[in-house]
Formats: sequence, C-alpha cells, structure tokens
Amino acid sequence: MFSLLPYNTFGLEVQADAGVVVRSRHDLQLPLADPYLIIGRGSDVLFTDDFAGTALIAGVRGIEVQHTGRSFEVRVGAGEILDELIVTLLQQGITGLENLSAIPGTVGAAPIQNIGAYGVEIGDYITSVEAVDLRSGQYVILSREECCFGYRDSYFKQHKEEKLFVLYVNLSFPDRFIPHLTYQGLKDKELKDAQAVRAEVMALRARKLPDPRFVGNAGSFFKNPVVDKNTVERLRAQWPDMPVFTAGKDRYKLAAGWLIDKADCRGITHGHAGTWEHQALVLVNRGQAKPHEIVSLGKYICTEVAHKFGVELVPEVRLYGRYGEVEWNSL
Ligand SMILES: Cc1cc2nc3c(=O)[nH]c(=O)nc-3n(C[C@H](O)[C@H](O)[C@H](O)COP(=O)(O)OP(=O)(O)OC[C@H]3O[C@@H](n4cnc5c(N)ncnc54)[C@H](O)[C@@H]3O)c2cc1C
Repeated sequence: MFSLLPYNTFGLEVQADAGVVVRSRHDLQLPLADPYLIIGRGSDVLFTDDFAGTALIAGVRGIEVQHTGRSFEVRVGAGEILDELIVTLLQQGITGLENLSAIPGTVGAAPIQNIGAYGVEIGDYITSVEAVDLRSGQYVILSREECCFGYRDSYFKQHKEEKLFVLYVNLSFPDRFIPHLTYQGLKDKELKDAQAVRAEVMALRARKLPDPRFVGNAGSFFKNPVVDKNTVERLRAQWPDMPVFTAGKDRYKLAAGWLIDKADCRGITHGHAGTWEHQALVLVNRGQAKPHEIVSLGKYICTEVAHKFGVELVPEVRLYGRYGEVEWNSL
C-alpha cells in the first residue's frame, strides 16, 4: 500500500494500492493498468475513499531560464513547487508571478485549473504545456491557445478523458516589472517592486487562509458561482450589499464565501470537519476527519446556500474515490 497522506493537504489518512514518483517520462510504464490517478501535492483534491489503483506523483524537476533580450523564457518541470519557483525567479529579477505567492502545489498542476489570485492567472504567462498522453504514449505540446484557459478552467479539465500527464510548463515574462494592483487589498498600497507585492500577498493570505501544514484544507472548496443578470437583480433586491463581479458578457460572479457566510455556515463544525473562521469558503480538517465528514459538511453547505439564495455551489476541488475521479452530484 502507498500512503496518500503526504499527497493531500486535507491531511486525510488515505491510501492507494501503489504509487510511482514520475521523475521523467521514462518512469511511466505504458500502457498503465487501470485505475490510476495523477497527483501533485494534493492541495486541490479531496480523496473520498482509499484509491484502488496507482497514484502517479508528478516529480519532474528543473528550471531552465533563457533571456531573449525582451523577455525571459522559462521551462519548468511539473514537480517543482510553484512558490519555490516564484522565489527563484524573483531572485533572478524575473517578475510576473508574485501575485500568486503562497499558493500551495506543483507547477504541473497550475495550468490544470489555471490557478489565480489577486488579479493574476498562471495562464497569462504560459506559452505552452508539454505532456504525455497516457493512453497512446504520445508526447504532446499544447500552445497557450490550445490550453483554453478560463476561470479555474482549461483544456485539461474539459478533456479529462485524454489523460494528459503534464511534464513541463513553459512560461514567458517581460523583462521589466509590470505591477498588477487592481485587486482590493493591493490597490491602496505603496508597493514599489515585486518583492513588496509578494510580501503583501503573503500577509493578506496568512490573515484569511489556514496553513495546510497545521490545519488540513484544500483552499477554496467551492467555485464562485457565475450567474445571469436576472439572478443578480433578484438577489440584490434582498441583499443590496452582496458582492458581484462581472464575468464576461451578461455573466456575473458571486462570492461563494459571502454566500456561505450569510447562510450561517462560517466557523461551523460537523464531526471533525468544519469551515474556517476567517474564510467560510475553506473547509478544514479539525483533527481526525474522515473523508465522508468533509463530504457531508460540503453537502450541508450546498443545501443551506441553495435554500437561502437559490444558487448552486459546485466544488473547485477535484474529488477522487475508490476507482478514480467522481462527480459531486454522485456522492
Ligand atoms: C491554503 C490553500 C490556498 C489555495 N489558494 C489557491 C488560490 O489562491 N488560487 C488557486 O487557483 N488555487 C488555490 N489553491 C488550490 C491549489 O493550491 C492549486 O489548485 C494547485 O495548483 C494544486 O497543485 P497540486 O500540485 O497540489 O495539485 P493536486 O491537488 O495534486 O492536483 C490537482 C489536479 O491536477 C491534476 N494534476 C496534478 N499534477 C498534474 C500533472 N503533472 N499532469 C496532469 N494533471 C495533474 C490532478 O490529477 C488533479 O486533478 C489553494 C490550496 C490551498 C490548500
């Protein structure tokens, strides 16, 4: 058996039948026997059960930097830790990812859900992603356009059946600092350089989010729901202070954390699972939580929010059961 405890930031005591750390494509013995799953650090995953198959751990290392005169072109192994990459880049004067500071997890997982924070998404800097198609063994390179990045979305999520194992991520950065300070919390601050932005982002995050080393969690458990104008008008009539953000033509993003808070679910505890006192969108393991306790708390929150606002919450975290990925509605 292979413990998945170091590979899930919820800190759940779950196991896989076997595990392989993939340091190069040659570690992938294709074709693979079903079932298998790909995992980085498990900071966007909830294991709902032990896994009856092989866990493929992203372990490709290496950071190659080229200065082309106007930009820095960077090729990074999927197993590198994103925050360590940000530190390495900043030490070399390469800026762009500082707003994503302190997001846990690997570089290879970053394009999967197009991670984002404080007004920046990783897809803004990705030029291409190199991967192996685990079914055919073919090496594929997806351009930024082919990655189809959207809000917490990408080609990799839209085409899960293709089983692409990301090996390298290629990024491009301008050779001067371009600040992204439009986000509430950053815009009123005097932040002169990327190091100052990183420090501020880390301070903001530390105030709001639990550190998974001490409190098991997977960040935002639910996505911010995207709704139409009628829904916004209906809700604003009753809750005029409800935060609303534009999300494309006639689409509006609501703050899931606000909805959960107003549905009286902030800081609650169910068994050994709970919601974080400072950010209701984060579900936490209060100690010895079992997977089913996290699931049942998530279901309770969905019911309360649907009852109060008529809005459906959908998990941002990926759910893996005994034989592979599972849908929230099937649990
Ligand atoms: C405290 C906390 C704060 C967070 N804050 C943010 C935030 O601000 N913004 C944000 O966007 N996310 C945030 N997250 C979520 C998470 O950190 C990111 O989604 C991160 O990219 C996940 O990296 P990982 O290596 O842990 O991936 P995992 O959780 O291991 O995997 C996530 C998904 O990617 C797939 N995957 C992983 N590696 C590969 C690979 N090499 N090839 C193909 N598929 C792969 C897995 O199969 C899985 O479906 C937060 C999480 C925590 C715990």
